[in-house]
Amino acid sequence: MDVIKAAIEGEGGEARTGGVKRAVVIGAGYIGLAMTENLHERGVSVEIVKMADQIMPPLDRELTTTVENYLRAHDIAPHLRTAAAAFAERPDDRVRVDLKDNTFIDTDLVIMAAGVRPSRGLAVSAGLELGPRGGIKVDRHMRTSDPDIYAAGDAVEAEVEVEHTVLPGTWRIRLAGRANRQGRVAAENICGRDRVFESTQGTSIVKVFDMVAGGTGASESAGARTLGHVPHAQRDDAVRRRAPEAVDAQDAGRWHTAHEGGHEGRQGPESD
Ligand SMILES: Cc1cc2nc3c(=O)[nH]c(=O)nc-3n(C[C@H](O)[C@H](O)[C@H](O)COP(=O)(O)OP(=O)(O)OC[C@H]3O[C@@H](n4cnc5c(N)ncnc54)[C@H](O)[C@@H]3O)c2cc1C
Repeated sequence: MDVIKAAIEGEGGEARTGGVKRAVVIGAGYIGLAMTENLHERGVSVEIVKMADQIMPPLDRELTTTVENYLRAHDIAPHLRTAAAAFAERPDDRVRVDLKDNTFIDTDLVIMAAGVRPSRGLAVSAGLELGPRGGIKVDRHMRTSDPDIYAAGDAVEAEVEVEHTVLPGTWRIRLAGRANRQGRVAAENICGRDRVFESTQGTSIVKVFDMVAGGTGASESAGARTLGHVPHAQRDDAVRRRAPEAVDAQDAGRWHTAHEGGHEGRQGPESD
């Protein structure tokens, strides 16, 4: 971050934009959007490149469209359904970003915010078993395939189907709350208590200027992918068996965007 800050501030200090007038942010997840907002507030003109057909894939499309339009209203152009194919240095010290849709953007700064990959090198060299999604396989006590080694956080993958509160299968949700709770469970077990990590429902929230978007549980598209295209009543029934309190509180599968401090919110559809 210090390098990015120095590049933006240039010689001018915090008060003005240095040499950076234009930036391209590759990726439009939470980190890409946070970078976009901060650069924009520094007076930098930002364009976003996203391979998927929407920003923030964990949220359903009808909600992200609202956020995309809100970005456009701030003169931030999302380039969707395309990806950066090449970077070339220009004679004027700028960078040309070639996109797969045969367009290009000349820019001063490129931010790569297209995903993180936890480091598993130590676990692999220790011969620990990995799960189907490539994470370090752990049981509900956070014990790896070596009973003397515990693991927690972004790099792990539970071997049982309780990793996600409402969806079946194993999931790798890379959020701090999950990592923190898993770390506590591992520590308690190491100290002789008997604790299990139950599940996570992946609650996340992002601020984009004055708009806030967030969700918890399963998006409709993730639900459809894993539970199939079934009517809502049946799907709720499947979810209720896994997380009765979530459905009863009408939390499951519901995503929300709202203007900060505002009265009006918009919620995901309640029926198919
Ligand atoms: C820019 C950014 C913003 C984020 N914002 C949020 C947010 O707002 N909310 C949220 O919930 N989550 C957020 N996350 C995700 C969150 O940071 C992670 O889910 C969380 O930090 C995972 O914790 P961890 O302990 O598994 O891994 P880490 O926090 O990455 O810690 C792993 C540590 O292990 C060290 N390490 C790796 N290999 C070795 C080795 N061989 N020997 C010794 N040490 C080693 C690493 O240096 C590192 O310090 C964000 C992530 C990023 C990158």
